[in-house]
Amino acid sequence: MDTLVHPSYLPKPVMPQVPPQQMLLGQKALVTGASSGIGLAIAMALGQAGADVVINYVADEDKAQHACEEIRHLGVRAEAIRADVSDEAQVKAMFSRMLDHFGTIDVLVNNAGLQQDAAFEDLTLAQWNKVIGVNLTGQFLCAREAVREFKRRGVNPAVSCAAGKVLCISSVHEVIPWGGHVNYAASKGGVMLMMKSLAQEVAPYRIRVNSICPGAIRTPINMEAWGTQEAYNELLKLIPYKRIGEADEIGRAVVWLASDYADYVHGISLFVDGGMCLYPGFETGG
Ligand code: NAD
Repeated sequence: MDTLVHPSYLPKPVMPQVPPQQMLLGQKALVTGASSGIGLAIAMALGQAGADVVINYVADEDKAQHACEEIRHLGVRAEAIRADVSDEAQVKAMFSRMLDHFGTIDVLVNNAGLQQDAAFEDLTLAQWNKVIGVNLTGQFLCAREAVREFKRRGVNPAVSCAAGKVLCISSVHEVIPWGGHVNYAASKGGVMLMMKSLAQEVAPYRIRVNSICPGAIRTPINMEAWGTQEAYNELLKLIPYKRIGEADEIGRAVVWLASDYADYVHGISLFVDGGMCLYPGFETGG
């Protein structure tokens, strides 16, 4: 119980009084790369929390449309918009279509990502550019459009304490080096400092910017790591919690981080990784 008086120069933010299934009621969210894996689970979780959702996809239109139908069954609006996030013109067109349909945007989830792996000496410039283009430049292009709209609109207290939220889906590989995946690790390391620098710059506008860093999550991107019992046993050596993560666990973290329950959480990387960053090689004393 707070017994301190708050003088007028020290206003207390109005905290939400809503049940979890309404944590994002009336908010408009865009999730990139949302026709599969973690992005799909995030889109579903946002819909379950009451948000209207744009599903961005680059391939698999059928899957994107199917996801929209599922989300509409939750009683919220959903729209699928095709765009390659690494292409500036397509990103601008996607945001313009979202603003036409939904009026504004409150939550951007920068999820689209890919891997193109090779031993360093075999890594081509095309593979380097592709991964940096989608995983890093794509996050920049989408965040820039979102921030422009957040600044234009400002805070709408009926919707959220914040003027907008950017959530970057990064990876444990923003801090764990990853041989054979240098382009991927470089892209996620870049996301970390892009996120933190942007967070510092836009905080005065009440725009919140954070990252979620998944560990090993069961999705198509890493099927070779869990597709057989042998591979799974190897994977567990890297996870102190001794199980792989599920995509909806990332979805739940996104809902909390996007909601006003997390209004004072800004500029962080939230690791959802079963302890993968805890140097598991030292589990038994090293
Ligand atoms: P996924 O392959 O199922 O999802 C990636 C999505 O991004 C796909 O839907 C794909 O079509 C989309 N995409 C690729 N290029 C795109 C482009 N140019 N424009 C728009 N969309 C594009 O894999 P996932 O595991 O769900 O990965 C989602 C995010 O999570 C990625 O950023 C990935 O790096 C990150 N991540 C995943 C894991 C994991 O263990 N699965 C761990 C750490 C981080």
